[in-house]
Amino acid sequence: MESIQRFTHRLLPIPITGKCLKPIKPTPSRTNPVAYFHQARKPIFKPAFDFGLTTRTSHSSSARARAGWLLGLGEKKKIQPETVKAGDPVLHEPAREVSPEEIGSERIQKVIDDMVEVMRKAPGVGLAAPQIGIPLKIIVLEDTKEYISYAPKEETKAQDRRPFDLLVIVNPKLKNKSNKTALFFEGCLSVDGFRAVVERYLEVEVTGLDRKGQPIKVDASGWQARILQHECDHLEGTLYVDKMVPRTFRTVDNLDLPLAIGCPKLGVR
Ligand SMILES: [Zn+2]
Repeated sequence: MESIQRFTHRLLPIPITGKCLKPIKPTPSRTNPVAYFHQARKPIFKPAFDFGLTTRTSHSSSARARAGWLLGLGEKKKIQPETVKAGDPVLHEPAREVSPEEIGSERIQKVIDDMVEVMRKAPGVGLAAPQIGIPLKIIVLEDTKEYISYAPKEETKAQDRRPFDLLVIVNPKLKNKSNKTALFFEGCLSVDGFRAVVERYLEVEVTGLDRKGQPIKVDASGWQARILQHECDHLEGTLYVDKMVPRTFRTVDNLDLPLAIGCPKLGVR
């Protein structure tokens, strides 16, 4: 409840101008073969569109995302939310549950549609609602043959990464099915340009509701289990950097450099 009041408060002074209707620009990605996370590593060049971003500018970007949600139904022109970046409180506070009665509403359905669109546009393999400025417990995830083909086979094999269809989970509850874990590099659209090693459970079970409000259960292993843990963490206000092996943190450009002495090895434990 508190988060909603604060959320509403934050939204009030946001001016809605024509600029707010600007469509999202493509998120930069690079060819480096990494265990990237939200972003599916499309092998394209990096457009220099994010130069000169200041704190202020990026704040207004997340403000636009929220404004888009607030406008919701009354706005005819399409507003593409942008991803919120680390530092915005919405990414560091727990999200609230969606009530079953709310799920069918046009507003929640639009939030879900927006999330899927933003994830695919990135392109990414998972997204949590706080990443478009919405403090609600909703996640979407999807991995495709095409995305997987961008990564070296040895890497996707080690990660146990396999394609799966789009999943929308409202109010997900995650539990690990075994104590087996694995360490791999992760990235996040909200911490763009960096990676770090994170230890995750290898097998998890997630229960929740689908976008029609029907109960669903997902048994996941390998990379899909990692995506689910990463996205569910977002709903608790936790970013991967809160859980990373600290001395593995690095820029994308330094991704292929060896791990520092003393760091744990990548792979299944
Ligand atoms: Zn993330």
